[in-house]
Amino acid sequence: RAALRCDALGRWVVHVIRTIMRVLLTGGMGFIGSHTAVSLLEAGHEPILYDNLSNADRSVVDRIGRITGHTPTFIEGDIRDGALLKQVLRNEHIEAVIHFAGLKAVGESVGKPLEYFDNNVSGTIKLLEAMRSVGVKRLIFSSSSTVYGTPQHLPLTEAEPTGEATNPYGRTKIHIEEILADLCRSDSEWSVVCLRYFNPIGAHPSGLIGEDPNGIPNNLLPYIARVASGRLPYLNVFGNDYDTPDGTGVRDFIHVVDLAQGHTDALPYAVSHTGWIAVNLGCGRGYSVLEVVKAFEDASGRRIPLHFAPRRAGDIAANWCDPTLALKLFGWKAKFGIEDMCRDSWHFESLLKTECETR
Ligand code: NAD
Ligand code: UDP
Repeated sequence: RAALRCDALGRWVVHVIRTIMRVLLTGGMGFIGSHTAVSLLEAGHEPILYDNLSNADRSVVDRIGRITGHTPTFIEGDIRDGALLKQVLRNEHIEAVIHFAGLKAVGESVGKPLEYFDNNVSGTIKLLEAMRSVGVKRLIFSSSSTVYGTPQHLPLTEAEPTGEATNPYGRTKIHIEEILADLCRSDSEWSVVCLRYFNPIGAHPSGLIGEDPNGIPNNLLPYIARVASGRLPYLNVFGNDYDTPDGTGVRDFIHVVDLAQGHTDALPYAVSHTGWIAVNLGCGRGYSVLEVVKAFEDASGRRIPLHFAPRRAGDIAANWCDPTLALKLFGWKAKFGIEDMCRDSWHFESLLKTECETR
């Protein structure tokens, strides 16, 4: 019996050692990366954050520490710096990489395509070269629903065709997905999971981390939050003549905490499988711009003044996904609804405004 107990204990130790992983998060100080760091820490993993701070604040690492009780290692660096990446992968004994780093402003990408291709595509190639040279061949990549272009069918499954993005940012995601698929075809040791995010919004319920874009926000939720707090006067609703129930655009909004959990849940899959796969992460239902405005008004108790404006160039009428593959492969499913997303966004925005005023 003692031998059996020893054996069970041994298996348990092996299980714990195997399942606790040292994971490099490129872009780990950003909106989605920081929430994923929290989720990984809460699951007992060891995230190591690598970021050039081009769109993040140094204070994020301490905030992650305040939420989880464990401040992760942060290394300031650029993904295009192959020598530093190799050193970090080796010295930190990295077992898998979650690759968030990249530029993400759709409008900006139209005026700066070379910067976007250099940062996102060349940067990813540098990262892959560094990983290959040290033998780390597990990657989870931040892809986007933008790879589907204008949907032919809703809900979108992973089987829908890709390749018709309407802007350079979207094309960087398509090119990177293709590069990753070619890499897996060339070397059967690679394991690559491309997570196609729908519309991440919300913030950590603590209000300590969230999305605080520089300048005027492009995306709906940070814009609404700033109108609610009085930092902006009104919301422009881009288009009310779409073929949707109320004429405004419809999107599959997903709480960033759910999205972050999707990465933690995808990790065991990346460890136990090889090859390339793309998986949708969304709630599987759409909300219109006006429905989101209403939910935010309810959550904040503030009125959001609206101006109806023409459609925004490059926008599609509606998209939402079929998230069943993520459930099947990772056991993952979104838990939070639009009310939670608006409440947590508003909490983050309120604390931010107080912080700005006391500075
Ligand atoms: P973010 O800008 O908040 O985070 C990206 C992080 O990467 C930032 O901290 C930035 O400083 C860092 N970074 C950028 N270029 C870098 C470089 N060359 N080297 C090192 N660090 C670099 O953006 P996010 O919303 O957290 O998005 C993360 C990833 O998810 C991005 O790849 C983005 O394209 C993708 N994505 C985001 C959304 C969204 O709506 N937020 C939707 C789909 C996909
Ligand atoms: N939108 C809007 N006003 C804004 C920002 C966005 O009406 O100030 C609409 C946009 O036209 C789209 C939806 O909100 O229908 C979601 O846009 P967002 O930029 O947040 O995400 P996208 O799906 O375009 O990546």
